[in-house]
Amino acid sequence: MPDILRRQIGIFEPRYLGCYRNRMFPMIELLPERQPQVVRKTGGAPAADMACGKASTAGSISQRACVFCGSRVVLYPIADALHIVHGPIGCAAYTWDIRGALSSGSQLHRNSFSTDLQEMDVIFGGEKKLEAALLELIAHHQPKAAFIYSTCIVGLIGDDVSAVCKRVAAKTGIPVLGVHSEGFKGTKKDGYRAACEAVYTLVGTGDISDVSPHSINILGDFNLAGETWIIREYYKRMGIEVVSCVTGDARVEDIRRCHGAKLNLVQCSGSMTHLAKMMKRDYGIPFKRVSYFGIEDMSAALYEAAKYFGDDPAIMQRAQQLVREEIAAIYPELQRYKQKLIGKKAAIYVGGAFKAFSLIRILRLLGMEAAVVGSQTGDAEDYRQLQEISDPGTIIVDDSNPLELAKFCLEKDVDLFIGGVKERPIAYKLGIGFCDHNHERKEPLAGFVGMLNFAKEVYASVASPVWQFAPRRARSK
Ligand code: SF4
Repeated sequence: MPDILRRQIGIFEPRYLGCYRNRMFPMIELLPERQPQVVRKTGGAPAADMACGKASTAGSISQRACVFCGSRVVLYPIADALHIVHGPIGCAAYTWDIRGALSSGSQLHRNSFSTDLQEMDVIFGGEKKLEAALLELIAHHQPKAAFIYSTCIVGLIGDDVSAVCKRVAAKTGIPVLGVHSEGFKGTKKDGYRAACEAVYTLVGTGDISDVSPHSINILGDFNLAGETWIIREYYKRMGIEVVSCVTGDARVEDIRRCHGAKLNLVQCSGSMTHLAKMMKRDYGIPFKRVSYFGIEDMSAALYEAAKYFGDDPAIMQRAQQLVREEIAAIYPELQRYKQKLIGKKAAIYVGGAFKAFSLIRILRLLGMEAAVVGSQTGDAEDYRQLQEISDPGTIIVDDSNPLELAKFCLEKDVDLFIGGVKERPIAYKLGIGFCDHNHERKEPLAGFVGMLNFAKEVYASVASPVWQFAPRRARSK
């Protein structure tokens, strides 16, 4: 059997077996091509730059999703738009059900429409089917805009999606936007870019005459479990208008006028920096990277906006008051959790690396250590910074796979894995607690209240008595 196939289906030779806590486990070796994407932080200066930002290695089962998925997660929280997946029905599996962005009004985004392309459509083309589906859906649902996601097969058969968009827009009078997100076109990051390009065609088309001089856009928050509402409320208490959140609980009308805001705050930098850069180029709106996770980063995000609007010192005073009140409300309980969590170790594997910075700081605040840190789409600068802020001995990894992550978790003997839906089974199979910090989460983890929720969840996972029965722990006794 060819070596690459053996690796893909997970066959390991007996020579790979090693010993861990008195039991045998498969000692997983890194593929040689993967080694430049893994760094172990030493005590000294950061090691050489990690390899990153490239296509996943063949034979290594990446945790990354496809280009289409990248576009879909970014755009679908726009609640009053129609989202239709042009492709086979399988691509439409990324629905609201597994990525629950909440809406305060229209629930149209919770539908997963698909053109369900079949063999005959692949042979004769899917344009007519797409146009008919759009006309029917727009007549029925009256959306404010429509997004059409191109999937792999559409790229292969060469449907002219842009021409269909133009025709349907002319017939219906609403913006009909093609998202060029064929799955094979690159990495998930290219999907983010395609999403930014599509949504940018709406920006600049609305009236901005009534936008406040102290106004911002929140870019890259997706209102998971209502997090956008928490953050909006903080800025409102400070006296700052949020023109639009792109895309959590977003409305097409708000996105049309978001070029009226004076500052863009970019939370999910991996997905939204491209949009922020285009708005800076065309409308002169500066942007800052922020994070709403953890006490330190949440406070910094509020102060960042207050500093920018320094012409009104009352905004900073209100920000300081807000931070004092919110921290006072959660601090005693946080300390109680910290007493139980001191010395515990965690592995972090997230989509964009910027969130990992916050998670390292949050874990430290809880007395814990991040022993493994990785991301799907970090860039060279992200990994340089991660090396700087990590503790000596931390394993830092780009675009990892399940076997590597399992290996690192065992090697570092972590008590908790923080990741998304694809990392959950890795943790549970190893007998390790898990915390969902991805789009599937049902508890808000952003903001000060989110910090407390996170501490509660980490404590409940790590301290659960169930782990004493997991084979890994049981056999080590
Ligand atoms: S890789 Fe292609 S076929 Fe698979 S989900 Fe993505 S767009 Fe669809």
